[in-house]
Amino acid sequence: MGGCASSCEGGGGPFSEGKELVLFVMQAHGGTVAKSPIPDGGLKTKCRNCGESFTLVTFVGKCPKCKGVHAVSPPRCDDPGNIQYAGKDFSLPENW
Ligand SMILES: [Zn+2]
Repeated sequence: MGGCASSCEGGGGPFSEGKELVLFVMQAHGGTVAKSPIPDGGLKTKCRNCGESFTLVTFVGKCPKCKGVHAVSPPRCDDPGNIQYAGKDFSLPENW
C-alpha cells in the first residue's frame, strides 16, 4: 500500500474508497445522510460481491441477496460507478 494522498488523515472523505467511504457516509451529518433517499429514485448497480443487480435507494444500502454493504457519497451520487463496496467483513447494524 502507501501512495495514499490526501484522504488518509483518518475518517475519510467523500472521495475515499471502499469501506472508508462507506464509513464516511454513515457518519456524515450525524448519520442522517446515510438513510436519505438518493435523488431520481436511486442508482441502479450490481453488487460488487455477488453480482446481483439492485437499486441503491439510500446513500448507504445493502444488496438484497448477500447483504453486502454499498454506499455512494452525496457529491458523487450521479454516477453508479462511484458506488463503493464495504467488503465482506462489514455489515450494517441489525436495525438499519
Ligand atoms: Zn450481493
